[in-house]
Amino acid sequence: MKFLFDSKEFKTKYHYEGKDLGASYNKDRTVFKVWAPTADTVSLCTYPDGLESACLQEYTMEKQEQGIWSVGITGDLEGTYYTYRLNIGGEIRETQDIYGKACGANGKRSMVVDLEKTNPDGWNEDFFAGRDKAVPAIYELHIKDFSSDLCSGVTKEHRGKYLAFTEMGTTLKGEGKTATCLSYIKELGISHIHLLPAFDFGSVDETKPLDNQFNWGYDPVNYNVPEGGYSTNPADGHVRIREFKQMVQAIHNAGMGVVMDVVYNHTYTMDSAFQKTVPDYYYRFHKDGTLADGSCCGNDTASERYMFRKFMMESVCYWAQEYHIDGFRFDLMGLHDVTTMNEIRAALDALPGGKSILVYGEPWRGRPSAMRKGCIPALKKNIAKLDERIAIFNDDTRDAIKGSVFLEEEPGYINGNAGLGERIPSCVLAWCDGKESYMPKNPGQIITYVSAHDNFTLWDKLNYTLFQEPDFYKKEEAVLKLNRMAAGMVMTSLGTPFFQAGEEFGRTKNGIGDSFKTESAINQLDWSRAEEYSDLVEYYKGLLQIRKHFCALTSKNSQVLERFSFCDTDKQEMIAFRIQGMEAEEDWWKELFVIYQNSEKKKEMKLPEGSWNLLCDGESCIPEGIKNCNNTIELNGKSVIILGRK
Ligand code: CA
Repeated sequence: MKFLFDSKEFKTKYHYEGKDLGASYNKDRTVFKVWAPTADTVSLCTYPDGLESACLQEYTMEKQEQGIWSVGITGDLEGTYYTYRLNIGGEIRETQDIYGKACGANGKRSMVVDLEKTNPDGWNEDFFAGRDKAVPAIYELHIKDFSSDLCSGVTKEHRGKYLAFTEMGTTLKGEGKTATCLSYIKELGISHIHLLPAFDFGSVDETKPLDNQFNWGYDPVNYNVPEGGYSTNPADGHVRIREFKQMVQAIHNAGMGVVMDVVYNHTYTMDSAFQKTVPDYYYRFHKDGTLADGSCCGNDTASERYMFRKFMMESVCYWAQEYHIDGFRFDLMGLHDVTTMNEIRAALDALPGGKSILVYGEPWRGRPSAMRKGCIPALKKNIAKLDERIAIFNDDTRDAIKGSVFLEEEPGYINGNAGLGERIPSCVLAWCDGKESYMPKNPGQIITYVSAHDNFTLWDKLNYTLFQEPDFYKKEEAVLKLNRMAAGMVMTSLGTPFFQAGEEFGRTKNGIGDSFKTESAINQLDWSRAEEYSDLVEYYKGLLQIRKHFCALTSKNSQVLERFSFCDTDKQEMIAFRIQGMEAEEDWWKELFVIYQNSEKKKEMKLPEGSWNLLCDGESCIPEGIKNCNNTIELNGKSVIILGRK
């Protein structure tokens, strides 16, 4: 059967265009619709709870056109849990609803929900006020990491949960001195908080909230339901929805947008609702019948199949509309096809305010998949085929600045491989200078970064490249210096800056790279570092402010490249460039002069003509200016220097 799914006949007979799959709730009647063209019979089972209770009633569903099975139940079904029982070739499978909007603990049963009931006060007025004007700068955060630290100042019941975001005014150990959590992030100057997976995933047992479980969450179970482990009561299907919305509302109230990390490229296991409902349809297989595994997670979903592409589009739009999400980060986007990604962009654009929703992803995959012939994977090399408002994480920038993410001791430009200096101007220009085999349409298509949840933190990576036996918990000036330099380079480059939460206070995971299920104590943000490394935090704030007040750095238009002029320097030792401003209203300066001094040597450098203000001297960064500089400037080695001219 699985080889007929791509036939013309299957398309005509079974592709379903309606947007009413799942449970459509009304106070006096709920209609259930499931797409299951290969099933012989389908029934609906109702339950009083989401876990072990016996079935209340089983209703036979009626076969309709296009592979649809449907039943309408009279009465108010709000809060009723349900599953579908499918007979496919004599085999009975019971599953939750692919399109389920609520579920019980561990997501085995879906729940009928009146979404109105889950809205916190003021939800109808909630939106990200800066959505049209915000200059994107993205902060990547795991929900549990955010507040697990006993010193986070968050109340015990909310630590590690959605509700931690609703606590403003928290301070380190509650001492009233150093701000923590959302109060802290609010002052950083970032535009969007990007949350690691927050849809329902499978690796954390929601029935054991007291066990100290941890996982990044790249193991999707129910795509359209928030994860239960971050709620205060996973067993009641309403609670996770309401608390997720409270989190979004709190972030919006703090002046930032919310990006969701979405993982449509694979499911937790093959024991999924997709596989049980239409066996083999939603996944890719090699010609020999084995499962494709480009995700290195056991399976690859098939974005190029009509009903999965449709599911992805509807799912993303659902999160944008119901949960007011402001951006989506696609995990292993290279496993999706370009058409699907572009159609998702178009579907978001069609929503009210949808054009401001960010879309970006990882333009790679673990290994080759089995995408249908003729489809184009959304890999880096195909960036020119992606919509100009779909961005990619740029690993070339990441690796050129600080070295390989896999080989811990392999350095980048700033920490030992000065030869990479030849590539740095391309990093600055977000690879729009045509010097690579791929060609972004504009700088807006590039995410410029040196740290993310995957692999070592920036602090740990720098330590590995500097020391034989690093002590990751030591406040080491040589590491701080390189950390400041890396951040200075990211923030003075084109593209959208992105960093892992805590990079700005030298976050360490004690040298562990792949910490996806490592204990919380290693992963969590150590809020005492916000105090200990407050100078570094202030430096990041300064850099973000400089960007915000110099539009040529944040422009998404390729014409901006003309404003950059590089000085003739030995790139191993130094990169220097001038950026002509756009004389925008927000601009504080007419021109910037940026120097990346890579050599250790102290020296004096002649400045271009004009009256310059030193904004960043490599140690501190004060966007209004530290002091006036004319004619020459002292360089103290290994730093990013930024000057502005009125
Ligand atoms: Ca879960």
